[in-house]
Amino acid sequence: MKITIYIGLMFILLTSTQAEVVYSDNDQAQAQKEDLLNELITIMGDNGAVNYVAHHEKYILWTNKAAVLFNSAKNEYQETELPSFTMISNKNAQQLQMIFKEQTGMTLTKDQIGGILIASTNQGAIMYYRQGYLPTKVDRVDSKVAPAVIIYHEFSHVKDSLLSPLYFSDMATQFDKRYKNHAERSAVQQQNDFVLTARSIGLDVGGLRQSYGKNDLINVASPWTIP
Ligand SMILES: [Zn+2]
Repeated sequence: MKITIYIGLMFILLTSTQAEVVYSDNDQAQAQKEDLLNELITIMGDNGAVNYVAHHEKYILWTNKAAVLFNSAKNEYQETELPSFTMISNKNAQQLQMIFKEQTGMTLTKDQIGGILIASTNQGAIMYYRQGYLPTKVDRVDSKVAPAVIIYHEFSHVKDSLLSPLYFSDMATQFDKRYKNHAERSAVQQQNDFVLTARSIGLDVGGLRQSYGKNDLINVASPWTIP
């Protein structure tokens, strides 16, 4: 009887361990990423996107590269390094489970996975106005931001998707002339909130994004360096 209670307690302790953001086994930047997450939580506080994601029960793999792009012509998933968040769905569940297994060694059920976030700690961006949003056809620079801003943007997508996968999917299909769709509008607003909050404590991480256009990714020295 005592043994049963002991095993029962152990089970509760093991299963109640909070899930977390996890990394590839061979990720050279893992320590830097962990430091950055703590800094983002400190700046944005308990209600920020990163804190919400870091304390959610589902696992998020934060990696630099993964085969998350489905190519319907070739009927296969293709690797990408472009900053993105891929939420788990019925369609991609097996693929995401395979990526977790390959990159972390973890065997997870579909319900344990939140998704896969791709972003580098040393790529900032020059962001351009959304084409067609302004009367001019020439690409005009909207603003430049440090990698931390790109990463916060992607974590905002993760937060929105974890809050409500259904609502997040729905937002992604709602067209927006200025911000492409409602999912991007939400992430850009959170990204701008981060830029302003950092500025309020004397940290310049770049400018505000005023629409959602193309990005040029630029290699920089640290997560806090503006290109
Ligand atoms: Zn986005």
